[in-house]
Amino acid sequence: MFQPLIEIPALAVAIAGVFGLLVGSFLNVVILRLPARMEWQWRRECREMLAEYEASRDGDAACAGAGEQPIRTAAAEALDAEQLRSVEAWEPADERAQSACDAADGRALAEVAASEAAAPGDDGEGRLALGERSPARVECSAVEDDDPAPPGIVVESSHCPKCGFKLKPWHNIPVLSWLALRGRCAGCGSAISLQYPLVELLTGLAFAAVVWQFGIGWTALAGLVFTGLLIAMSGIDARTTLLPDSLTLPLLWIGLIASTFGWTVPMEQALWGAAVGYLSLWSVFWAFKLLTGKDGMGQGDFKLLAALGAWCGLESILPIVLISASLGAIIGSLWLAARGRDHATPIPFGPFLALAGWVYFLFGAEIQSVYLGLVQIG
Ligand SMILES: [Zn+2]
Repeated sequence: MFQPLIEIPALAVAIAGVFGLLVGSFLNVVILRLPARMEWQWRRECREMLAEYEASRDGDAACAGAGEQPIRTAAAEALDAEQLRSVEAWEPADERAQSACDAADGRALAEVAASEAAAPGDDGEGRLALGERSPARVECSAVEDDDPAPPGIVVESSHCPKCGFKLKPWHNIPVLSWLALRGRCAGCGSAISLQYPLVELLTGLAFAAVVWQFGIGWTALAGLVFTGLLIAMSGIDARTTLLPDSLTLPLLWIGLIASTFGWTVPMEQALWGAAVGYLSLWSVFWAFKLLTGKDGMGQGDFKLLAALGAWCGLESILPIVLISASLGAIIGSLWLAARGRDHATPIPFGPFLALAGWVYFLFGAEIQSVYLGLVQIG
């Protein structure tokens, strides 16, 4: 059945390209909705932790009211003193004095205040920490009442974020619909982000390139999965500077599994590639942090390079790091210059790693022979 396709590679490449356009329009949805869901999840966890903490305080109050002393360890006492300091920051004093337990809080607070006065060096820092905590608390309670779940990735249909206009089936044709509508919403006429046609076009071209390079087979199929995941996480990193574990970790596991089937690099190369990929950026991160006290990169970058190592092998790690760092330095400084921002602005590194890894996955052998040729000439 597949024989005619193999004999007409141009047709196979074209079909892969069209398939890529369709996958690209799904990736657009992932890029927009996955971070929104992650952030919603974090807000929910934040509220749950807060509720647990408040429940434990109420439990203590009940004990004190019944005249019983709760059994406590020194560690629990220390934790309580720390919590009281943060409670002080967000609750007015008159509200605190409402119950017997709260009166005890007041005494503990006085002790904390006395110990802080005894150590004036800590004072400023302590207050800064309190000041930082209270806005988080305000944000948590503000979202508590009305924070509906953002739309799911697969279930809900696409709509205009401005006017809520539900897209008709013919508005969902990759690239063409955007061109036909001249980049404007059919309902309200507001501009549709250039991200949509760009991601679709990029996915289409990348899918075509994978089939063009590998032909039809398991390697190409694995390559399409690799490509799709890389485009999704690059888009998310570019928009939000987040690299979700829910994408980087599956990419790592799928890469290791693909190598056991002989679709990509030998298993040993994949395993060492993953380990060295992770540890190399991990050590750069900690060296930078110990020297400067700052986070030089996101921890998602380690996981992404580990995944790229699993797909491209141990030998790919150095070229991928060199290519992505050069790309990042050039494009990043151009971007900062264009936006007029200083060098403290965080630049997502994920898209550069992903691009370098993808190029290596397709053209690693060519890159190595060019490199070896240069070495021999030198
Ligand atoms: Zn609209």
